[in-house]
Amino acid sequence: MIAFDTRLLIGGESVAGQGAIETAYDPARGTAIADVASASPEQIDAAVQAANTAYKSWSRFTPRERSKALLAIADAIESRVANLAAIESRNAGKPLRFVEAGELANVADVFRFFATAVRNMPAPAAGNYRSSRHTSLIRRDPIGVIAQIAPWNYPLLMAAWKIAPAIAAGNAVVIKPSEMTPLSLLALGEIFTDILPPGVVNIVCGNGPDVGRQLISHDLVRMISLTGDIRTGRAVLEAAAGPMIKRTHLELGGKAPVIVCNDADLDKLVETLREASFYNAGQDCTAACRIFVQSGVAQALTDKLETMVGQLVYGQPGRTDVEFGPVISARQQERVTGFVERARAAGADVMQRSVTEAAGFFVAPALVVAPIEAEIVQKEVFGPVVSLTRFDEVQTAIDWANASEYGLGSSVWSARTDTAIEIANALEYGVTWINTHGVMATEMPHGGMKNSGYGSDLSMQSLIDYTQIRHLMLG
Ligand code: NAD
Repeated sequence: MIAFDTRLLIGGESVAGQGAIETAYDPARGTAIADVASASPEQIDAAVQAANTAYKSWSRFTPRERSKALLAIADAIESRVANLAAIESRNAGKPLRFVEAGELANVADVFRFFATAVRNMPAPAAGNYRSSRHTSLIRRDPIGVIAQIAPWNYPLLMAAWKIAPAIAAGNAVVIKPSEMTPLSLLALGEIFTDILPPGVVNIVCGNGPDVGRQLISHDLVRMISLTGDIRTGRAVLEAAAGPMIKRTHLELGGKAPVIVCNDADLDKLVETLREASFYNAGQDCTAACRIFVQSGVAQALTDKLETMVGQLVYGQPGRTDVEFGPVISARQQERVTGFVERARAAGADVMQRSVTEAAGFFVAPALVVAPIEAEIVQKEVFGPVVSLTRFDEVQTAIDWANASEYGLGSSVWSARTDTAIEIANALEYGVTWINTHGVMATEMPHGGMKNSGYGSDLSMQSLIDYTQIRHLMLG
């Protein structure tokens, strides 16, 4: 039996929520596993006030002191991997072995990276620009209280991407996990309580329209950071334009095109897509979900993909052979299935396995051959579904990719480096992989363009995003 702590973290204290109950589910069985009481309006205010108080002293800690705390958090996460992974796997339906070996290792690595990054912040400049009697200094200071809103697809990893750079830079945060997946972050609360001064990290739970909206609208919040839907991004921008103008950092959806030229290495491509398209049941903002393939290899690629989709192993997350588990909720299951059914009804060629699991929110992997204007090629599905569309001229694929409202992940596949780079240069996407897809490095920035948002997660750039630049002049 896994024990779930459902208490919020406010000002260094674990407290029961006093608001509405949100039920967390085990998506692999479709059963309720915990009732989490949301933060009441008074508790949201208390969390922001606690962060505001903590910020005043935490921002004066030296980088060395903050770094030490982040390193201790990373160590503590590593020492509790089994427990944290069990909670994450249960509440998000992720294969346990991937959470243990991959996602949790990355969570610890993110804290460790920002512990180092803050001690290596690009050096502030000093100089005399008006006369020898006026010396200018540039400072990079923390911003204050940051409201952070996290999604359900990588509950702990997305929280780490937000918390680590923000607190490394000297800010204090109030973070709200998704109401569907609060349990792993709440478990991390104990680690924050043990290591950080009270109030540096506060965790409040609840839904978006009530708890989330109240949090991001609070006058003491200086910046809002969201990973979520485009619609939620718009709500953040409205809140940011309220009585106190706030900075924003938005990581929104994606619909990653995979441009495959006639000379691509199809075997390497298919092997890569097996993970890049279906990891986390395709609930990934950079999932390789729409393939644009040049006519010369379209049939060969379709055949290879059909074989691969036929071999994919999915099922209960505790099994050691599964490549993916269920989608997050009954609603998401219906949503993904709806996309596939509408594509079929519109005449697309659909290859989908039948669902093998009796209970739980499972969606069988699918390959859909459809024209560019099809809904399934244009809209974010966020499930184990890949579309394939044929093109003749490379420019057509570039135009299709750039016509999208999204601009997060993309990839180009060609044996010729010059061709691949030329295509990559022309793409309006925050990240473009060449002859690979979906590989992340903590040192490298991750962020979008257009309706996929702006601002970087990971890398030194993210640390910079959580600071403000200031000019001091000595007369
Ligand atoms: P969502 O926007 O519905 O929810 C995300 C978070 O926002 C949740 O915590 C939710 O409670 C909160 N929220 C919702 N409405 C709110 C409001 N009015 N005010 C304040 N908070 C509010 O998105 P989701 O369904 O949880 O996540 C899936 C989406 O996130 C997909 O579109 C996916 O592509 C995107 N995503 C993007 C990235 C990225 O790096 N760009 C990473 C992961 C997920």
